[in-house]
Amino acid sequence: VKLVLFGAPGCGKGTQAKELKDKYQLDIISLGDILRQEVQKKSELGQQVQGYMAKGALVPDEIVAKVLEVNLADDNFVLEGYPRTYEQALHLDKILKKRNLDLDYFIYLDVSAQTVVNRLQLRRVCRKCGAIFHLKNMPPKVEDRCDYCSGELMQRDDDKPQVIRQRLEVFNKQSNPIVDFYKDKGKLFAVDANAEKDEVFARIVRYLDKE
Ligand code: AMP
Repeated sequence: VKLVLFGAPGCGKGTQAKELKDKYQLDIISLGDILRQEVQKKSELGQQVQGYMAKGALVPDEIVAKVLEVNLADDNFVLEGYPRTYEQALHLDKILKKRNLDLDYFIYLDVSAQTVVNRLQLRRVCRKCGAIFHLKNMPPKVEDRCDYCSGELMQRDDDKPQVIRQRLEVFNKQSNPIVDFYKDKGKLFAVDANAEKDEVFARIVRYLDKE
C-alpha cells in the first residue's frame, strides 16, 4: 500500500507513520527527518535548507523535489511531510506516473490550532534516533531519555512558540488546494486527529482494512 500522511505540524504524521510502518511493513519517507539529518551532517544540502527550516518557512520546491526523487522507493511506503504545496502534489503525481506507481490513499490528519500548540510545545524528540515523545501525552519512561535507544531527548528548534505560529500559518495558506486535489481523485481520507494517538491509529486502520 502507498500512503501519504498529510496535516498541520503536530497533527501526528511522524507518530502515525511509525505505527503504520510496523503494522503494514511500509518504508517511512519523512521529508522533515531527511532534511534534519542533512542539517545535522552539515552537508551541502543541509546548509542550503537550514535557514528556511529555522524560520518555519518551506524549503523551495526544486530542492525538496530532488530529495523526494532520491528517497522514493518503488516499495510500499508511507510518505510524510510531502506534498506541502500544490506544486509538490503535481510533482509527486508526475514521479509516480513515470514509475508506473499509484498512490492508494491520502490521509489527512485534521487537527485544531489548539491541538497543534499543545502538542508541539511539549514535544520532545530523540537526538539519536528521532523517536517522538510528548511530556504529558507520551512521556518517556526515563526523564530526558529515549525509550528505544537511550539517546538524549531535545526540543526541536522550530517547536518554539514564535516558529510554531509561522509553520501553522504556512500550512493554512497551502493546505486547501492540496486536499481538494486528492479529493477530486477520490483518494482523500480525512480523519479527526485531535484524539490521542492510539485512537487516531485505530480510526486509520479501520478505514484501511475496510477498503
Ligand atoms: P516537519 O518535520 O515535517 O515538521 O518539517 C520540518 C521543516 O522541514 C518544515 O518546517 C520545512 O522547513 C521543511 N520541510 C519539510 N518537508 C518539506 C516540504 N515538503 N517542502 C518544503 N519544506 C519542507
